[in-house]
Amino acid sequence: KATLRLDKLLSHTGFGSRSEIKLLVKKGLVMVNDRLVKDSGVQVNPGRDRITVDGEAVQYREFIYLMLNKPQGVISATEDTRDRTVIDLLDASHAHFEPFPVGRLDKDTEGLLLLTNDGKLAHNLLSPRKHVPKTYFAEVEGAVTEEDAEAFARGVALDDGYVTMPARLNILATGNPHTGQVSKIELTIMEGKFHQVKRMFQAVGKRVVFLKRISMGTLLLDEHLSPGEYRELSETELLQLQ
Ligand code: URA
Repeated sequence: KATLRLDKLLSHTGFGSRSEIKLLVKKGLVMVNDRLVKDSGVQVNPGRDRITVDGEAVQYREFIYLMLNKPQGVISATEDTRDRTVIDLLDASHAHFEPFPVGRLDKDTEGLLLLTNDGKLAHNLLSPRKHVPKTYFAEVEGAVTEEDAEAFARGVALDDGYVTMPARLNILATGNPHTGQVSKIELTIMEGKFHQVKRMFQAVGKRVVFLKRISMGTLLLDEHLSPGEYRELSETELLQLQ
C-alpha cells in the first residue's frame, strides 16, 4: 500500500504519539509538498510526497528489526490474556511499528528472538524448505555422550514418530548424574518442530533443564544484551540475514 496516515508515518519516524503530532500540526510546523498541513490524519505517500517538520525533511522507514534476548517467563506471541509477551518488553517507540516474533521460543527458554514487521524476511527465515540453522545452548541432566551426538547426527524419533533431520551436537561439559552436575551442550538444528530440542533429548532419555537460543542463520545473540534487553539490528546483520 503506497499511502498511509501522516500521523502514523510521523509517529513511526519518532515524532511522538498521535496527540503530540496533532500539536505539531496545530503549531503549523508540518508541511507536505510545501503546503501547510491542517489535518494530521491526511493520507500521504512517503515515496512521492515531501514531508517536513519544522523545515526538516522526514526520512521514512517502514520496517523495524529488533534483536531481543528473551527472558524466561514471557511468551513469544504478540498478545496473551494471561502472560506477559515479548511485545510488552518493548518501548512504545518500537512497539508502534507492530513487530512480531520470528518463530517461537518456549516460555521457559531464553535467548535470541528476532522481532520485525517485515513479513517477507520472517517468511524466508521460517520457511521449512530453507533449513535455516538454529543453535541452542542447553544444560541437560546427567551425562550427554558421543552416542547421543551420533544419534542426533542420524536423526531421532520424537514422541509423535517424527524423525528429526541431522543435527550437530557439541558437548561442552559432561555432567555427572551422581553429583547432580549437569551437561553443557550446543545443538544446531535445521528445522523447528514444537519443543524440538527438549523432545530430542527426551528421545535419548535425557531432560533439558535450561535452554537458550544463541543463533539463527547468520544472526548471533549479542552478549551485551541481558535477558529482557533488545536493540535494533545493525546494517550488516540485516544485510547478511536477507
Ligand atoms: N526447542 C525447544 O524445546 N524449545 C524452544 O524454545 C526452542 C527449541
